[in-house]
Amino acid sequence: MEFSQYPVNSLLYITNRPELVFTEGDGMWLTDHNGKRYLDYLQGWAVNCLGHSPQCMQDALATQSKKLINPSPAFYNEPSIALAALLTDNSCFDRVFFANSGAEANESAFKLARKWGKLNKNAAGENRYEIITFDHSFHGRTIAAMSASGKAGWDTIYAPQVSGFFKATLNDLDSVKKLITDKTVAVMLEPVQGEGGVIPASREFMQGLRALTKEHGVLLIVDEVQTGMGRTGELFGYQLSGITPDIMTLGKGIGGGVPLAAMLCREEVACFEPGDQGGTYNGNPLMTAVGIAVAQTLLAPGFLQSVKDKGAYLSAALLKLTEKHGLAGERGDGLLRALKLGSDIGPQIVEKARDLAPVGLLLNSPRPDLLRFMPALNVSYEEIDQMIDMLSGVLSDLKP
Ligand code: PLP
Repeated sequence: MEFSQYPVNSLLYITNRPELVFTEGDGMWLTDHNGKRYLDYLQGWAVNCLGHSPQCMQDALATQSKKLINPSPAFYNEPSIALAALLTDNSCFDRVFFANSGAEANESAFKLARKWGKLNKNAAGENRYEIITFDHSFHGRTIAAMSASGKAGWDTIYAPQVSGFFKATLNDLDSVKKLITDKTVAVMLEPVQGEGGVIPASREFMQGLRALTKEHGVLLIVDEVQTGMGRTGELFGYQLSGITPDIMTLGKGIGGGVPLAAMLCREEVACFEPGDQGGTYNGNPLMTAVGIAVAQTLLAPGFLQSVKDKGAYLSAALLKLTEKHGLAGERGDGLLRALKLGSDIGPQIVEKARDLAPVGLLLNSPRPDLLRFMPALNVSYEEIDQMIDMLSGVLSDLKP
């Protein structure tokens, strides 16, 4: 079928998309409407942690869909209980609230923090509700999540913003100290800023932030929508710095590609009362059954070590590419990595890589001088080599 035959204009225009319609996915590979194959280093924006359509997800969906799809969140169901237990058993958190998207999980975190700040007032007897977040952070696209985000231009696009969010500078503890007031209830950050350009919060900064927040009786919230569920080589990114946050949000990897997200908290903070929070689809058995299949795969012996090993391999390969093509280096944790290009050639590379024939390469450039790599966590070493060869060819072609 020709692209022009698809009635794409029935979809609301929200972004520029290439004239491709993807019809099939398998592991690291996508196939378009013409049958052309692409090596996919986006993986649904770091969502498909086990690649496209892994067998364990197909099986979980097929089995659960025959048993029970949604009894309503007013009742318990087996998969959501089992997945919550898997998450609490393997983290420092005690309670889980399931949601459908990262932004919704973050909204839950804001609400829980504000509720806690109402119950734990300041010395003047006032509610605490201010949340400190960071420049260049990304927390999602609801109005509150946009207000929390430090993305340029987002303060005016749907003004007025939700009030109470203040932006500090990542890896600068003094900038956080300056923003703490007697109304501050929480500090929230991504352990690695993903959309901001794969910028890790340093171990010292994370530890300093934990000490500072404890000293001021302020909650520490980690947004692990992108770093969570194995992406950094640890199950959760906060584990890289050996700290214990109070609240964590998950999205993307937790569902391996299906809409599933979660907010986790420690018992001391679990202060919602009936009516405070909910959602029709939250914790439905179809999605949480998939979440169990994904989590069990990530927790199998050796899996997370293999993510670390492949992350190190990808890092070394990107460094070699840097030397060969005179680029500006690489950074990241595990299999969330960025190549610093040294000039604004990212969008050109993305287009040329996609257009390669007979096989294309899908890359992401969150900033014009950067490429971000978010392969499936079970990517093979051959698929890393193949990507590096293809990218190297594109870079050679771009040379003046
Ligand atoms: N938080 C982080 C760190 C993210 O990277 C994203 C999405 O990229 C979100 C929140 C929003 O997640 P969602 O698009 O599922 O709402």
